[in-house]
Amino acid sequence: PVLRVALMGLGGYAQHVAEAMQSCKRAKITALISGTPSKLEEWGKKYNVPEQNHYNYANFDDIKNNPEVDAIYVITPNSLHHDQVIRVARAGKHAICEKPMAINAEEGREMVDACEAAGVKLLIGYRMRFEPNTLEVVRMRNDGEFGNIKFFQGLSGFRIGDPNQWRLNKELAGGGSLMDIGIYAINGARYMIGEDPIWVTAQETKTDPIKFKEGVDETIQFQLGFPNGAVASCLSTYNMGSLDRFFLNGEKGFAEMRPSTGYGPIKGRTNKGELNHPHVPHQTIQMDEMASIILDGKTPILSVDGKVGLQDMKIIDAIYRACASGQRQELDLT
Ligand code: NAD
Repeated sequence: PVLRVALMGLGGYAQHVAEAMQSCKRAKITALISGTPSKLEEWGKKYNVPEQNHYNYANFDDIKNNPEVDAIYVITPNSLHHDQVIRVARAGKHAICEKPMAINAEEGREMVDACEAAGVKLLIGYRMRFEPNTLEVVRMRNDGEFGNIKFFQGLSGFRIGDPNQWRLNKELAGGGSLMDIGIYAINGARYMIGEDPIWVTAQETKTDPIKFKEGVDETIQFQLGFPNGAVASCLSTYNMGSLDRFFLNGEKGFAEMRPSTGYGPIKGRTNKGELNHPHVPHQTIQMDEMASIILDGKTPILSVDGKVGLQDMKIIDAIYRACASGQRQELDLT
């Protein structure tokens, strides 16, 4: 069977997902949810979604009665995910939710609970967790090819444009660069080291307080400590171009990836040579794999479960607390 997906929020990233899904073997778009009637019409024509499967933000709860939809993929601004995912769960559909899953751990917890209570799956759009070169590094680490892991560096950032976009609005974004792009370094630290951190320290720098208002971080450096003694040193920013690099080092070897999380080919090398899996659009692999997780109960190599998203939200909360207090924060992600 094929996973029949409703896309919610027909913006920039949904466009990438929709295009990539055209090459999926196991997932297809069967419904659309948008507040803009002209987008429903345009996307409906382009992706062959009939009008009876068009919804808006007021009436999408009715999707409950639509047997042509298995899952709803929420691709809206961050602060909307919480209520929308809970409504998806109540409609009895599986939820796929973009990162960050919410704007804090408390909301993330409520989303996980709502999906559990409704008996539906909650998966987070962590596309890197399915990317073949990334998984090759994970395999090498698991096979001991780098030795005991000691250090990870994750540098994630871009220079943000239009000052009026929702990403720079605390209400809709929930924060700044950390929520949007720094989360790749957080999530990456976890899958590259293969453990969950137990403490965090963090420092914030703001050079443009007009563009980056109160509660919207421009640049944050943070450090994570792991149970076996590894440390991660990461940078999240909205004010540097082309910052997209992961570096992992163990007692015996290393992996370096640049770009490490961008949409294009993931490039890099290890002590054993170049990473050389061919590029497939990340969202194509992601949606085919999510179909297997939802329809066949497949356990992926790296989990994208709501609980993994919730753990990232706990780390984000702790990083903001560490910035505000200047104090190291202990983490309990169990
Ligand atoms: P976008 O601004 O391009 O699209 C957002 C869409 O939400 C727009 O179509 C907008 O009309 C709609 N929307 C619905 N209600 C809204 C409201 N109240 N206010 C503003 N817009 C509203 O943003 P995007 O880049 O597509 O990001 C959407 C989500 O996808 C974010 O959570 C983002 O973090 C995530 N994202 C993930 C990736 C990834 O690689 N996994 C990449 C980009 C974005």
